[in-house]
Amino acid sequence: MIVVMKIGATQEHLDLVCKRAEELGFTPHVIFGRERNVVGLVGIMGNREEAFRIENMDGVDKVVPISKPYKLASREVKQEPSVVDVCGVKFGAKDVVVIAGPCSVEGERQIVMVAEQVKAAGARMLRGGAFKPRTSPYAFQGLGEEGLKLLAKAREATGLPIVTEVVNPADIELVYKYADMFQVGARNIQNFALLTLLGQAKKPVLLKRGMSTTIDEFLMATEYILSEGNRDVVLCERGIRTFETSTRNTLDISCVPVVKAKSHLPIIVDPSHAAGHSGYVPALSKAAIAVGADGLLIEVHPEPERAMSDGAQSLTPNQFISLMGELRAVAIAVGRYM
Ligand code: PEP
Ligand code: MN
Repeated sequence: MIVVMKIGATQEHLDLVCKRAEELGFTPHVIFGRERNVVGLVGIMGNREEAFRIENMDGVDKVVPISKPYKLASREVKQEPSVVDVCGVKFGAKDVVVIAGPCSVEGERQIVMVAEQVKAAGARMLRGGAFKPRTSPYAFQGLGEEGLKLLAKAREATGLPIVTEVVNPADIELVYKYADMFQVGARNIQNFALLTLLGQAKKPVLLKRGMSTTIDEFLMATEYILSEGNRDVVLCERGIRTFETSTRNTLDISCVPVVKAKSHLPIIVDPSHAAGHSGYVPALSKAAIAVGADGLLIEVHPEPERAMSDGAQSLTPNQFISLMGELRAVAIAVGRYM
């Protein structure tokens, strides 16, 4: 349930509502809005009947139940879109943010060179995997901490903030030292222990949709992070599994407007893992911006044919440069900037 405060309610009113909510067995989450603030009351042990009487407290407008299974992510709790700030890069604002880089960090020359190239083309953040969740245990698993150090070097050279995947809860502390944003991969969306710990970490999280995750399950997964106090969650649609085999996955383009209708959280699209083939990445990128995505995550490799993972879907730096020019036009056509 949520407590909607009156316009002009004071901090003291808010504090007293939170105190009462705690007495009734709830965890209160204050969501500051442009016009008015609301307090989300979360917790299955809370006394719901008594909570409705919070309506009589000073500064309170009304108490309303939340109808959706996801709470803190829902539009019912927060009507305005959330903006997630990663070192000054804003997801969910007017800009369409492009994150680019190789699937895996493979060496210093590779990552620094590609960082410089994607930055020059207009990318705002750098991606690169140091811990790779591979389908086969015999495939390249990433450089681990060495890869994180190389990402930090690329950040130093370019100023681009970095996002990288954390696969194992035991590596959160290590990844925290280097990354500006944690990535949770498709295979880990229901690793609730990982999500809970990331909810306690004080860094933004890029949460990828699982290959068989419904949109409601996707939003439920965000609750594990949000309910621990970390509000900086950006969703990422990266294709889901269907009967179609011409592409690696099927980009669920409708996920973007559906998430926007249900949630205030920003959502970006990864056309690379959806397509599995670099030739389809430009068209899917344009579609994503047209449908309202707040950004894109695109794999770029200096020599895709030699990449240690996901070469077939990676753009060359030159392909990325020409794509960025086309994307700018689409962004402007739908009232966004790039
Ligand atoms: C990746 O971003 O390289 C990756 C492994 O993506 P996903 O988790 O979406 O498969
Ligand atoms: Mn990849």
